[in-house]
Amino acid sequence: MVHCRKCGVVPVREEDLPVLLPENVDFHPRGDGKSPLATVPGFVETICPACGGPAERDTDTMDTFVDSSWYFLRYLSPRDSARPFDSSLVNAWLPVDQYVGGIEHAILHLMYSRFVVKFLHDEGLVSFDEPFRNLFTQGMIHRNGAKMSKSKGNVVNPVPLIDTYGADTVRIYTLFIGPPEKDAEWNDRAMEGAYRFVNRVWRLYAHHREILEAQNTEESIDPEGLDQDHLKLYRAVQVTIERVTGDIFARGFQFNTAISALMELTNEMYLFVEQNEAFKRRDAGSVRLFREALRNLLLLLAPIAPHLCEEIWERMGHGTTIFARKLPKADTRFLKAETYTLVVQVNGKIRSRIEAEKDATKEKLSELALADDKVQKFIGSGKIAKVIVIPGSLVNIVVKPA
Ligand SMILES: [Zn+2]
Repeated sequence: MVHCRKCGVVPVREEDLPVLLPENVDFHPRGDGKSPLATVPGFVETICPACGGPAERDTDTMDTFVDSSWYFLRYLSPRDSARPFDSSLVNAWLPVDQYVGGIEHAILHLMYSRFVVKFLHDEGLVSFDEPFRNLFTQGMIHRNGAKMSKSKGNVVNPVPLIDTYGADTVRIYTLFIGPPEKDAEWNDRAMEGAYRFVNRVWRLYAHHREILEAQNTEESIDPEGLDQDHLKLYRAVQVTIERVTGDIFARGFQFNTAISALMELTNEMYLFVEQNEAFKRRDAGSVRLFREALRNLLLLLAPIAPHLCEEIWERMGHGTTIFARKLPKADTRFLKAETYTLVVQVNGKIRSRIEAEKDATKEKLSELALADDKVQKFIGSGKIAKVIVIPGSLVNIVVKPA
């Protein structure tokens, strides 16, 4: 833009673009609030494109926000010297499916991007008028009571941690630190927990490598033919698939709870290894089930601990990368917790039978029993003196007449 005393603010003619910046600029601050460009007369002094009279170039060049308002359009054709962006590519790939950023971007950058894209849409240059479909704002990490930042000097350098524990451990630790939308406190010692988990998964492979290596044929497991102990592991795998895919996608970025679910499955696999006699004998069916459980564990953990999972995957004889695989789908028939029939007595007489989850706590069972309509009828206006709970069997409610 050129400032002319007669014509006001006048744009430079299109054929005179681009306006090249001078190279001999003194960037030392001078305290007058003017741009360093204002110290270069050869740049500032020009002629008015409208009247031809003497005029001055504007010395406030474009803010970085101008660039951040449309960089995502440019990313698709970064070497195109003829156009700022390629509309056909932009219309094919954009708008952005998922934007992840700090809340500090919410007011300026994200709003400017919308203005710029709406303008380009009005000009017929892009086919959409919103740049981002979805926004996720992550929380901040605190350490020693303050937001982690370079200026506070409390930033953790990940490189020594990666050198000590490996990149997968550091990834697991940071994803496990808490719900990603919330602020969290950094804890140097909690890194050990993530490291133990990585090693536990590795040993599931390493201690059984003779039944895992070069076993790249995936087999479908028929759950109908499994006994209770094997079904327990099969069920745990299905529940984990459902939890992890739900936490990461349906519920959105809940990596911390996804990792908990994977830790639980790992524990379940250790129980199987330690307690299942058929597996200890290396019975074919048990081995097959264990192998499928490990395959599913790896597929679900791979986005979180890629090096570990790819390494074991390859050692299991898979010729292609684990990242070319889709996430597994749960066998939905086995997602519900196992239930049993709980007998409910009032003063020692059976008054109702209800379905209870196998691992429900005493408190939960008592709550269930008291909420039952039939039971309520028999309690009537009486006073509950005592509730006796025998998990796996019955609840007896002792009632005194009102
Ligand atoms: Zn003029």
